[in-house]
Amino acid sequence: MQLNTTYDILIIGAGPIGLACGLEAQQAGMSYLIVDKGCLVNSLYNYPLNMTFFSTADRLEIGGIPFACIHPKPNRSEAMEYYRRVADTRKLNIRLFEEVWGMEPEDDVYRVTTSKGRYLARNVVVAVGFYGKPNLLHVPGEDLAKVRHYYFDPHYYYRQKVLVVGANNSAADAALETWRRGADVTMVVRQPELGSIKYWTKPDLENRIKAGEIKCYFSSSLTGIREQEVDIQTPDGNITLENDFVLAMTGYQPDFSFLEQLGIALTPDANRHPQYDPDTMETNLPNVYLAGVICGGMNTHVWFIENSREHAVKIVQHIVKEAKAQEV
Ligand SMILES: Cc1cc2nc3c(=O)[nH]c(=O)nc-3n(C[C@H](O)[C@H](O)[C@H](O)COP(=O)(O)OP(=O)(O)OC[C@H]3O[C@@H](n4cnc5c(N)ncnc54)[C@H](O)[C@@H]3O)c2cc1C
Repeated sequence: MQLNTTYDILIIGAGPIGLACGLEAQQAGMSYLIVDKGCLVNSLYNYPLNMTFFSTADRLEIGGIPFACIHPKPNRSEAMEYYRRVADTRKLNIRLFEEVWGMEPEDDVYRVTTSKGRYLARNVVVAVGFYGKPNLLHVPGEDLAKVRHYYFDPHYYYRQKVLVVGANNSAADAALETWRRGADVTMVVRQPELGSIKYWTKPDLENRIKAGEIKCYFSSSLTGIREQEVDIQTPDGNITLENDFVLAMTGYQPDFSFLEQLGIALTPDANRHPQYDPDTMETNLPNVYLAGVICGGMNTHVWFIENSREHAVKIVQHIVKEAKAQEV
């Protein structure tokens, strides 16, 4: 579609970090384009309706643009409002609902193919996050419509028998919120105790479990799902419970096949860590960079918005330095 333009940078992903890369490129006077397969900050849009960030607003800021927020920790709507205002204020060059399918090197540029066209770019930034691919349970019945890997609005589960699978933040939020909105909640946790949960949520959940208001099976696992019931293996034997919905809050993982299709090398171990230079964020492919939470591979608890904002600065600094070196 736009092969007559060769961008200095094409950024795949309009999440917080993709936007931060766009702001840095704009600041450096470069031509750039940000492309996203969904809406602006699509991952945040798919977060739970009442989700509150564990970061304070200042630690979610990008491009030095203040995030004014009444509460110390912003919620999902406030964060989306902020990133929309950033995109508007700086008139960022973004194309939404356009999926990047692949890219090919062509002379000293890349030809990037999307669901709506093709683009040429000297540099490509891959800032695709990991929220698009849930970690599956691999349990019979997981494909039933009642099984959800994304939790949104607690109201939906009023007077429903809900099984929450998981031990961390998302499971804790889903269990407490749905219970408070009238669901009959049972949790199944593989470990003998709850995982790393926000300090203001954990005591609340522990007290609900102690009071028997939320039933929790520790050191247990879900072994089967059917339309109206679930099977759980517990230390005291196998049990079957009546059930309406399963909220599988078991985390997410990068789309490794997409990275490999682009030609980005991954470590052969279980973590499948993408290969990049931590000083420049450049990958094994020349002029192709990684940015944001995608950088952790399967270790999705290393990078957050807070600490991956710096990737944008490193990338643009390196591209500027490289361009200057070529002028000499
Ligand atoms: C419930 C929850 C709470 C969190 N709380 C915090 C917090 O308090 N503080 C914090 O710092 N972090 C927090 N995080 C982590 C952080 O919000 C995210 O991981 C953040 O979204 C990372 O930004 P990103 O730009 O790297 O990736 P993402 O926001 O995931 O953006 C990636 C974008 O790439 C797009 N994309 C993917 N593939 C393609 C393709 N092929 N073509 C085009 N577009 C594509 C996606 O649509 C998406 O919009 C939280 C995460 C979750 C799930």
